[in-house]
Amino acid sequence: MRTKSKLLFIVTLMLLALGGATIINVSLNFREYSIKDAVQRASTTAAIVKDGLTAHMVNGIMDKRQYFLDQISNNNDEVKDLWLVRSEALSKQFGDGFYSETVRDAIDEEVLKTGKMVQKIDESTGNIILRVSIPYTATISGGEANCLKCHDVQRGDTLGAVSISLDITDMRSSGMMTILKILAINILFIIIVLILINHYISPYMQLFSNMQKGIKKAYSGDFTHEFETTVKGDGANIVSQLNTLFHKMQSTFGDIKYNLSTFIPQGCVSSADPLHEAKTIIGELSDIYKFKKTIELDSSKSLVYSRIVDVLKNKYNLLDFTFYEVSVIQNTRKVIYTTKSSICNEEVNNEASLCRAHRTKTDVISTEFTDLCKTCNSRNLEYVCIPFNINEDNALIISIDNLNNDEVSKVNVFIPSIKNYLEAAKPVIESKILMAKLRDTSLRDGMTSLYNRRFLEEFIDTLVNQAHRKDETYSVLMLDVDFFKSVNDTYGHDIGDKVIVEIGKLLKESIREADLAIRYGGEEFVVMLHNADDEGTLKVANLIHSAFSELVFDVGNGETIQKTMSIGISKYPTDGDTIWKCIKFADTALYVAKTTGRNKIVEYTIEMSESDELR
Ligand code: GH3
Ligand code: MG
Ligand code: MG
Repeated sequence: MRTKSKLLFIVTLMLLALGGATIINVSLNFREYSIKDAVQRASTTAAIVKDGLTAHMVNGIMDKRQYFLDQISNNNDEVKDLWLVRSEALSKQFGDGFYSETVRDAIDEEVLKTGKMVQKIDESTGNIILRVSIPYTATISGGEANCLKCHDVQRGDTLGAVSISLDITDMRSSGMMTILKILAINILFIIIVLILINHYISPYMQLFSNMQKGIKKAYSGDFTHEFETTVKGDGANIVSQLNTLFHKMQSTFGDIKYNLSTFIPQGCVSSADPLHEAKTIIGELSDIYKFKKTIELDSSKSLVYSRIVDVLKNKYNLLDFTFYEVSVIQNTRKVIYTTKSSICNEEVNNEASLCRAHRTKTDVISTEFTDLCKTCNSRNLEYVCIPFNINEDNALIISIDNLNNDEVSKVNVFIPSIKNYLEAAKPVIESKILMAKLRDTSLRDGMTSLYNRRFLEEFIDTLVNQAHRKDETYSVLMLDVDFFKSVNDTYGHDIGDKVIVEIGKLLKESIREADLAIRYGGEEFVVMLHNADDEGTLKVANLIHSAFSELVFDVGNGETIQKTMSIGISKYPTDGDTIWKCIKFADTALYVAKTTGRNKIVEYTIEMSESDELR
């Protein structure tokens, strides 16, 4: 609308300038023309007077000339005064004439002197007075009277002058009237032009402003605008094409957004701008695709978890958080990663169902209710705990803490996106868990669930090499039940199996997390004590040895038996530079224990290997 006002203003200014120029031009020309016309009329009147006087002279009725002059004056309203002036020569010959026939002003004097017509405009009185004097010159022929016949003058001499005073004041008022008329016509013209412009321009202006509105909305991603116009022809075509284009854009972007959002289960953006939304979703999809491709090639679950931690740190800039893994069946929770320390009570690790997020399967956002999670230690700052189920037995929890209210709002926005990453990682984590389970099964003994010999063969070198690099040690205990065969032979295999199962339990209870217990053969076990000194090693060996000898086995029929075991000990790297050598030396020590009476613990010595009998 501002454009329209501007246009109308400019057009008005132009028309006013044009009208003004016309008025100035007309008024200047009008004055010039009117004066010219008045002079022409005055000259004609003077010529008539001159001819009339000549006729009076020829007819000898010069004495009647005043009547003639009065008639001319009376019949012409414009003629204010009309008089004759005699030259000096004429006055000398015929006297001064009538009372009025004398020089009245400088104009008369000039005409008599020069013999030429003189005219002058006088506006000093308020009226416009045109003074015109024409000379009366002596002639001899050429159809004119011969003045020299009567006048005692030379041919060409000025006999006198005819002087006229015309009042042309009316000219000014008629000029003013003309200007007023022109002005009125101009104003009328301007008004008509403005009305026409307004009439024809307005619909275009409305169309422009409507288009501007629609384009502005489109810029912010809203293509729902309906373009309207009253303009016919091309304008209507443009509007219809724009509407078709916008409908197409709206439905296309809507489809794109819908199709893209099906790739992302959690809405990661909510914007009225489908373009921006599509761009964000594509960006999110691309990031998640790259993430998924990377973790698919990762060798272990812990590496996948470390990628999730990287995403939390780098993409969402989370500073304080803890990442937990939950075993649903065991109802335990394990810290995978923490930036500082967990804000959650330690007890939850042993009883995962105490975790509100895990139990309710809903996000726990501390700002929603005072003291929302009872197992949380964070009292002053806010937290957000996000649970995520991997499968029936495994779940994850991301606990983001140390937040203020604003940061909680920001994290809330991220939650769907974080879940998209977890969703992408879910099948990979699931397959890693499955693989680990399968592997665990193949590396563990089914009867005791202790590691089996295959585990020893596959992993012990790596484990021990790592330990060696850190100057760590392993004590190797080789255990074998004394006279086990007789159990089988006397009470059957089932009773023998029972003894083996109980040894498994006993070993598990007797060692720490960093130690390893392996079923090495039938009723032969290897225990590897991590970083245990001589005293500690003997202590554990004695504990196992005596605890086993105290076990009472029910063999049926109200009968019970008790068994003993022999243990051989060697130390890595003191006794041997490889773990396999140490296992062999522990076996050597066991052999010594067996051959020297059984039910005893024997520590390996170098002499044992030097003995021919043992080699
Ligand atoms: P020693 O004191 O010399 O060790 O005498 P021993 O009878 O224990 O001899 P040895 O250690 O060689 O005996 C191994 C026996 O363990 C042979 C086998 O019948 C039995 N055995 C091996 N694996 C199993 C098992 O899984 N279950 C049962 N019940 N017996 C097993
Ligand atoms: Mg035995
Ligand atoms: Mg044996």
